[in-house]
Parts: sequence; C-alpha cells; structure tokens
Amino acid sequence: MEEYVTLTIGKQKNIALIAHDNMKHELVEWVKENAEVLKKHFLMGTGTTARLIADEAKLPVRAYNSGPLGGDQQIGARIVEGRIDFVIFFWDPLQAQPHDPDVKALQRICVLYDIPFASNRATADFLLHSEFMDKEYERKILNFNKTIESRLDSFK
Ligand code: PGA
Repeated sequence: MEEYVTLTIGKQKNIALIAHDNMKHELVEWVKENAEVLKKHFLMGTGTTARLIADEAKLPVRAYNSGPLGGDQQIGARIVEGRIDFVIFFWDPLQAQPHDPDVKALQRICVLYDIPFASNRATADFLLHSEFMDKEYERKILNFNKTIESRLDSFK
C-alpha cells in the first residue's frame, strides 16, 4: 500500500474564511479587494466572520458555528471529510483566545491534510494570485488506511 495518497483541489475551491475579532476588519477589507476572484469559489466561515463578510462584501458565505462555540472544530471536521480544501484564517497574534486549543487543532489538521493556509494578508495575497487558483491541484496526504493497518498490526 502506498505511503501517501493524493486528493484533488478542484478549480473551484472550497475556501474557509475565519478571523479573530481584532482581525475581522482586515479580513473583510481583503475579501472586498479580492471579491472578483473569490466569487468564483465556494466560501464558508465561522459564524460571525461569515455573516460579516456576507453583509459587507455581498458574497455568499456559508456560516458554521461561531469560533468560540466550536466553529473552528467544524471547519477542521470538514477538512477531514474532504469538503474544505483552502483556509484563510487571520488569527490574532497579540491576544489569547478562549478557544486557542481549537485554533491549534485546526492548524494541525491543515498541515496534516496539505491544505493551503494563510494566516496573514501577504500570504493570502500570494495564495490568491498563485497559478494554481485557476487549476486543479493534487494535495498529498498520508494514506490513513495504511496507517490504520500498521497500527492494528502493532496491537496484535
Ligand atoms: P467568529 O469565530 O467568526 O464566530 O468570530 C472566529 C474565531 O474566533 O475563531
């Protein structure tokens, strides 16, 4: 069995948008500046961020729960299920959050599942202007079936 498998990020990406409170203004501004590109994709986000973007940037954004109420975990779960494949998350580098463990968990899942992940404006700009935005992209992830098989073997 192969060590890694690939999953395709389609031409139309499933993009999660999240911003901590002090970063919401910056994310909304960034989304407005990039609305022409973003409207070609499917957008979703944590509760408050999603609502704010929908209201201010007039783009359709599917809202999950608010971040402190489990929204980051919902987005992580969608990544595991293969339903989200791109994350823009302006997290606050200057203020601790009640849900810091959830934020860390989401960052870990993004690395594990080889998800393009931007934490600030410059990275978001570079991602959005990448040649891969208009193409399919094969992300490379661990073959979990193989991992489970070898874990099972280790217990027998
Ligand atoms: P919010 O959650 O969009 O509901 O504010 C974001 C977060 O704090 O993770």
